[in-house]
Amino acid sequence: KELVIAIDGPAGAGKSTVAKRVADTLSYIYIDTGAMYRALTLKALKQGLNLADEDEVAAMAKETEVKFKKVNEKEKVILDGVDVTDKIRTNKVSNNVSLVAKIKAVRERLVKLQREMAAQGGVVMDGRDIGTVVLPDADLKVFLNATVEERTMRRYEDLKESGEEVDFEKLKEEIIRRDEIDKNREVSPLKKAEDANEVDTTNLSISEVVEEILNLCQE
Ligand code: C5P
Repeated sequence: KELVIAIDGPAGAGKSTVAKRVADTLSYIYIDTGAMYRALTLKALKQGLNLADEDEVAAMAKETEVKFKKVNEKEKVILDGVDVTDKIRTNKVSNNVSLVAKIKAVRERLVKLQREMAAQGGVVMDGRDIGTVVLPDADLKVFLNATVEERTMRRYEDLKESGEEVDFEKLKEEIIRRDEIDKNREVSPLKKAEDANEVDTTNLSISEVVEEILNLCQE
């Protein structure tokens, strides 16, 4: 049977790397819901919208198309027909995305799209509210976590690799702030679903986490 796997957790817990590997191993599709919130944030920033103006951002979201497309085996994020895969990973987008993601109308729109994408099964979806809200009936729910130092280190390495210089301590503060907004928002806050398996990835390698999830799939 083709399963539906939900992976949630805070920033830098290793969700996307692990989810992608699990999906590849099982020949499932991988859906990165964070990328969808990031794409809307990129557009809002480009248009110079005031992100605190929820109606304005919601109206923009309503007229925006966010899709995934596989090009040469690589998953691309397409915003209104344009490939924004790399542009949504900047620290500027990271530092603003939680403001967009806490808007109810924005979430309603994206959650609907996410459910449609998962409808046929054989899917690994990662985010913050997948096990709790988007796919409450998922066959397997995993909540990945790690210490804030470890999560900051991972983000730090990612940004360095993409050529963006950031200060470690500052980045740590930004991650803490983003988690706080995600955990305390009114709609679909970041939290572990009651029936999710929690995995602390602080001292685990990527393959160890992937292995653990594949084992949980057998149960
Ligand atoms: O996973 P990633 O770090 O790319 O997510 C970026 C942001 O998008 C999160 O900090 C959160 O504000 C938002 N998000 C969300 N719900 C999801 C996925 C991401 O609110 N399912």
